Formats: sequence, structure tokens, C-alpha cells
Amino acid sequence: MRFRPGLLAAVSFTAALAASPLLIAAEQAAISKGEVNVYSYRQPFLIQPMFDAFTRKSGVKVNVVFAKKGLVERLEQEGRNSPADLIFTVDIGRLSDAQNAGVTQSVSTPILTGAIPESFRQSDGHWYGLTQRARILYVSKDRVPADESPKTYEELADPKWKGRICTRSGSHVYQVALTAAMIAHHGEDKAKDWLNGLKANLARKPQGNDRAQVKAIKEGECDVSLGNNYYFGLMLNNKDQFAWAQAVYPVFPTLAGTGTHVNIAGMAMTKASPNKDNAVKLMEFLTSNLAQQMYAEQNFEYPIAEGVPQAGLLRSMGKLIPDTLDLDKIAENRPMAIKLINEVGYND
Ligand code: FE
Repeated sequence: MRFRPGLLAAVSFTAALAASPLLIAAEQAAISKGEVNVYSYRQPFLIQPMFDAFTRKSGVKVNVVFAKKGLVERLEQEGRNSPADLIFTVDIGRLSDAQNAGVTQSVSTPILTGAIPESFRQSDGHWYGLTQRARILYVSKDRVPADESPKTYEELADPKWKGRICTRSGSHVYQVALTAAMIAHHGEDKAKDWLNGLKANLARKPQGNDRAQVKAIKEGECDVSLGNNYYFGLMLNNKDQFAWAQAVYPVFPTLAGTGTHVNIAGMAMTKASPNKDNAVKLMEFLTSNLAQQMYAEQNFEYPIAEGVPQAGLLRSMGKLIPDTLDLDKIAENRPMAIKLINEVGYND
């Protein structure tokens, strides 16, 4: 066993998880056989089944630290002694923030670049998308006949929807990414007009999460909302929210005539990764058909690797034709999107 600073850090990583010194000793023994350490913003139930499948296949143990926030900051503080090998998060904004903070490293293998199309990974391999989620419209069944529903994001700014749209805060990463895509397609001026038009059509001040907008439709406050596609499945599976989902139908709008705005859940290798070989093995496993299907189905998201079957609910919701705009381009336009959202006072 070669001594390296990262190994000590890996011991402290598992030590943080272990309950007793005896357990720590056991963990130390396991490390020499192979482990990989993950920092995850994604909830354990979404990722643990794939990690278990990876361990069964490879014998490599996966240790996960889950947190709702602060993991990038933690990586910055830990610096080169960080025990973490991989970071898992959602949204292009958070992945590019990690890259911009300097806590990721470039990794590229024929398996990774072969499985994940170019538009779903950072060009130097600083992050890879694993699943895609579409930002769709939820439309009132009672008040908007299907042939009258908006079919594009641009239409949401049309005065005919005045007082009929609900959205969450314009500053949330999901809304920022959509606005950044709007800028990438139409330019800054038109994107600002769109934001102003959308704001003028809001039925209420932006508030709540994606599901709260659907609840507002159910309660008659508005007729159309923006939300990620997987919330439809999550609401249908939740006895308290089932009625909200029943009040709406999903629409996959197009942006600039291309396709529906999508975002990703993804992974990045940390700059300090002490178990790089195992980390690459896990990354490659997650792009395999089996893992892609498991990950996507767990949260009603779409697989990214080609040829992986979609969950039944997704098939029944309608066909996703994604906007093929490079996610890199969306990341680039995020600062401008945030500026415009503030300039139009979207949340006021
Ligand atoms: Fe979400």
C-alpha cells in the first residue's frame, strides 16, 4: 500500500461516518481493497441503488456523504487533502459552479465520452451529465383545452396569458438555466423582453417550488406553470399531491423552434481525488445502460446514454425532443440571466 496524503484523508472520511474506533479499523482495512468517496447533493435513495450495484460488480465500496448544501465549499476548505473523489449534483449551474470554484478535474475515457453525448458533458471532462430532466409546462385540464395551451416558452410572454401563469422564484437555478437558454437562442434584448412579458403575466408574486405551482393550478390561482417533468411522477406517487397532478396535463414546449429545455443531474471528479482509478470505474459504470436506467427511473428522469429505455410514466407523458443547445452555452449565459432577472425585478 502506497502512502499518500489522500489516504489519510480517506481514513478521516470513513471515520466521520463510523460510530466507533473498532469500526474505523475495519474501514481502514477496507480502504486498501478499494473504495471511492462521494459527496452528494442528491438524496441517498436516488443514488444508493446504483452504488450498491457497482459494489456488487466491482468489489469497490462506495462511501457517500450527503448534504443539502455546502459541499463545494467543503471541497474548497479541504483542498488537496479532501477525501472526496466525486461530487454528484443537479443542474448545470451547480456543476459549473463546482468547476469554476476549481474543485473539479478533467477526466476523459473512451467509455465516458462514448456514452455521454457532447452536449451533455463539459468539453474538457470537468463534469458529465447522467440523467436529463425537461422543464415543461403544467396546464390546467379544466380551464385550458389542449389545442389552446402554450406550445412554446416564448408564448408565455404573450399578453393573452395575463394573470394566468405561476412560477417559482426567477433566481432559482431551474429558472436561471431556462433564461440562460433563452439568451443563448435569442440574444440578451429579446430574452429581457421575454422576462418582462412573463412577469406581466404572472398571477402572483413568484413563490414556492415547482410542485407548489401545480397546487396553485389545482386551487384555481393560475392556469399554466413551469416545472421539471419528474415532479409529475413524484406528485402522482404522493397521496397528498395526487390531486394536484390530476388537475393538470404536461406540455413539452419548444424553445426557438428546437426542442424542450433540458437540464441534467451529473457528476464531476474532484481535483484532489485520492482514489482516482476507482472513481473512473464508478463514473464509467454510471454511464452503462443498467445504471442509466436505474438512475433515471428512480426519479422519473430521462437517461442520457443512447438506447436506454425510458420509464413507463415518461413514455405515457409524451415524447421529449430536447433542445440540443450545448449545456456549456447555458452555463456561459447564467451570469447574464441572473442580471436580467434582477433588472426586470422578476421576483418583486
Ligand atoms: Fe428538482
